[in-house]
Amino acid sequence: MTRVVLASNNRGKVREFNQVLAQCHLDIHPQAQLGLTEEVEETGGTFVENAILKARHASRITGLPALADDSGIEVDALGGAPGIFSARFAGESATDAENVEMLLERLAGVAEEARAARFQCLLVYMSHHADPTPVICQGTWEGRITRAPAGDNGFGYDPVFWVPGHECTAAQLDAAVKNRLSHRGQALACLVARLAHLAP
Ligand code: IMP
Repeated sequence: MTRVVLASNNRGKVREFNQVLAQCHLDIHPQAQLGLTEEVEETGGTFVENAILKARHASRITGLPALADDSGIEVDALGGAPGIFSARFAGESATDAENVEMLLERLAGVAEEARAARFQCLLVYMSHHADPTPVICQGTWEGRITRAPAGDNGFGYDPVFWVPGHECTAAQLDAAVKNRLSHRGQALACLVARLAHLAP
């Protein structure tokens, strides 16, 4: 198994990534477990730049290959906002509930057919901190923003993200179903295909 640092301390992500990436012989460790407590500033203007910044930083400090993701939601009626600012839409240390409330407020009066939105996930694998050809995978999940939150599963904008075809919000989906459909699930599937050649 190749030890890899994950530039995130989100326990849900660590579990999901480990389950999926074991087949590529990757053993994922959250960065805090490896003594990396200081988060790098996300100064990029795109998801991919921010994911690279996080992966490079984690790899440089730990000396291990690194994996990082950057994700968010784009809303057409808001010109693509909140995008890379999704985690801090309602302010620097905003809670998920505050971000959702802000989104619903900004979309008040916007008709159903104009509420299209999508989650984006950029996943980056760097074999070392100066890796000039990082593996980059993208996942996109199309849906639309509801008028009120529904469901208790998931996190972030899940309660207001309507999933066409399943006729419920992302927060009403079973975790396994969400992991299969989601932007992160798609990016992970791409990564598995790209890293399948790694030796056990
Ligand atoms: P991060 O890249 O994981 O830090 O995600 C940035 C922000 O995007 C999160 O704080 C959430 O608000 C939002 N987000 C990303 N992925 C999801 C998801 O699967 N469901 C709901 N919100 C998400």
